[in-house]
Amino acid sequence: MRAFRNFIGGRVTVKVGDITREDVDAVVNAANSSLMGGGGVDGAIHRAGGPSVLAECRAVRSRRYPDGLPAGEAVLTTAGRMRARHVIHTVGPVYANLGTDAVQLAACYRNCLRLAAAEGLKTIAFPAISTGIYGYPQDEAAVVSSRTIQEHLVEDSRIQQVRLVFFADDDANVFLRHQVLG
Ligand code: ADP
Repeated sequence: MRAFRNFIGGRVTVKVGDITREDVDAVVNAANSSLMGGGGVDGAIHRAGGPSVLAECRAVRSRRYPDGLPAGEAVLTTAGRMRARHVIHTVGPVYANLGTDAVQLAACYRNCLRLAAAEGLKTIAFPAISTGIYGYPQDEAAVVSSRTIQEHLVEDSRIQQVRLVFFADDDANVFLRHQVLG
């Protein structure tokens, strides 16, 4: 897996690879509101993590979110057989070309980072939430994700490293062209 670039004194790393292989305190899952698994990164995380991740998602659903996890919210489970210790499941917006898209996408990144910090986690890996099946344009998502991560890291020193893991070189390059990290 290749590290492309570092930002904010090494606190943000952009890389290309399979997020399920990241050795971090938490990998973020671009889940759907059912929390019952799906395609893309969601399917890969459940396949790599194994049945215990799904069992914990079921428990979260019945205890806290019987109608499903709303877009922008985040919840924590363990990571089963993955090298990571936890999974933070968040639901990105289905891109609708409305003002609410960016608000909800920013909420995903912010709530994942807040939850990780509150749980004492230091390292977190994000996929490019909503840019697959949910259709969010990669260039617009780069602006929203990078701005939100930067704002959080400046305000809160608890998270030591954020890894942005893209599936393909082209995806990472679009991010690098449009990101606004200082
Ligand atoms: P969403 O439904 O939120 O759009 P997807 O899983 O369809 O989520 O896609 C989000 C992004 O994650 C896409 O850019 C996709 O290429 C990427 N992706 C898919 N599988 C992986 C993986 N194993 N590791 C890292 N990124 C992945």
